[in-house]
Amino acid sequence: MDIKNGFPGAVGNTPLIRLNSFSEETGCEILGKAEFMNPGGSVKDRAALYIIEDAERQGRLRPGGTVVEGTAGNTGIGLAHICNAKGYRCLIVIPDTQSQEKIDTLRTLGAEVRTVPAVPYKDPNNYVKLSGRIAAEMDNAIWANQFDNLANRQAHYETTGPEIWTQTGGKVDAWVAATGTGGTYAGVAMFLKERKASLKAVLADPMGSGLYSYAKTGEITIMGNSITEGIGNSRVTANMAGAPIDDAIQIDDQECLRVLYQLLRKDGLFMGGSVGINVGAAVALAKQMGPGHTIVTVLCDSGSRYQSRLYNREWLASKGLTMPE
Ligand code: PMP
Repeated sequence: MDIKNGFPGAVGNTPLIRLNSFSEETGCEILGKAEFMNPGGSVKDRAALYIIEDAERQGRLRPGGTVVEGTAGNTGIGLAHICNAKGYRCLIVIPDTQSQEKIDTLRTLGAEVRTVPAVPYKDPNNYVKLSGRIAAEMDNAIWANQFDNLANRQAHYETTGPEIWTQTGGKVDAWVAATGTGGTYAGVAMFLKERKASLKAVLADPMGSGLYSYAKTGEITIMGNSITEGIGNSRVTANMAGAPIDDAIQIDDQECLRVLYQLLRKDGLFMGGSVGINVGAAVALAKQMGPGHTIVTVLCDSGSRYQSRLYNREWLASKGLTMPE
């Protein structure tokens, strides 16, 4: 018998998929951890589960309590599913720049959703800071605080990293991923580096994020912008602090789209925007490292969450981008 205990029991243990078209082009094994196959549809189910169960263990979250979070969407979706499964309420603060698909999903799941204008982190009305203040003012409520709550990267250190190690039989030369909170990148990088010191941990970054320059120069400088959602940052979060970074690769939106449409048309994978950045960076890294290497990245969520944007010619044109032929 192989039965998972409810939604929480079904999180993780995702397949590792060989990305055939990219592997053949580069002569490397380019492998994607299929996080879109989590029951809530994204990599963030793992962090959501660890954050809630950590608060339960510490007695900070009691029956009937509320989980509050500021999120670009996927963490909120994971939290909302788990709150339903465990009998908690869920309140989500989300910037109004995020896709309608994610906002609609949160409302369907029964979360209370507050959309707020997207303002920089230094502004007191930034969605993350606002969610912290809302939680502090409520009884029996926790602030998930995914950016700085280390239960987030612990999820990846204890589950995603070991799964990748087992699935590759330890035959992995590089790990490359973009970061939002940094939980996925840092947790996996820390685990794999402990197992294999020669492994290369490479940060992938979209335009409009300061982490590429941080990795290259130690200074955060932001240039350009990106249509990708849930990745990039203008600060080093607690989850990123101390994570090994051997190098960084920046991928622009047009290259991200080229990769997404190749994944769709040649590999049969319908993926969200951050996957275009991740696989684009894996391909660039494969070219740097040369044939014969195994490179693992993460397939964070599905394209269905962004159908009206990334897979819509008119929307792309409105952003000055071309739908790949
Ligand atoms: N891709 C997508 C689509 C996401 O929603 C997120 C999380 N915001 C990430 C990647 C990055 O994951 P992490 O927060 O673990 O860095």
